[in-house]
Amino acid sequence: MKIGVLALQGAISEHLDMLEACGAEGIRVRRPEDFNGLEGLIIPGGESTTMGRLIENLSLGEPIRSLQEGGVPFMGTCAGLVLLGREAAGCPEQRLLGYMDTVVVRNGFGRQCESFEASLDLPFLGRAPFPGVFIRAPYIARAGKGVEILGSVEGRDIAARQGRVLTVAFHPELTEDLRLHRYFLQMAKNLP
Ligand code: GLN
Repeated sequence: MKIGVLALQGAISEHLDMLEACGAEGIRVRRPEDFNGLEGLIIPGGESTTMGRLIENLSLGEPIRSLQEGGVPFMGTCAGLVLLGREAAGCPEQRLLGYMDTVVVRNGFGRQCESFEASLDLPFLGRAPFPGVFIRAPYIARAGKGVEILGSVEGRDIAARQGRVLTVAFHPELTEDLRLHRYFLQMAKNLP
């Protein structure tokens, strides 16, 4: 399977390594022509404002939209969860892709808590806890009816799925655990 990793900033090569470890072909995408023939797209962590600006400046809005309209599954991690949301609380100016009906809180775990690790209970990935690496992580404050919340930590929602869009607030690519990437590839495989 050919899966694109939006290569604007952030932990790109780690996602590519994980895809390869799962037996898929990961491709860096940063020019409109790179999006042809993708069967999935990963939007990695980074800075969501910068990534949003780069999407615009590099004319990637259109190719991203046509993938989305073509039913290609998307996975957003950390800043990717923000970008895929509908609204960033307190940042009304921020341009988002809006493919998931969520209101997100950026840097939602407070400044004193720049980064932390937590053992997550994510039943959709099986019974074993998932190693959650959170770096200036967002959380989902509100979600529309179509959004299924898949996990939470400290009472805050940090994983969700709406149809073909999957988002998590943490960084699976910084761990050795392939289950989330496998789940995403399964989403891509099960398409009609
Ligand atoms: N705080 C960043 C943002 O809101 C996300 C941080 C990350 O992706 N590690 O864009």
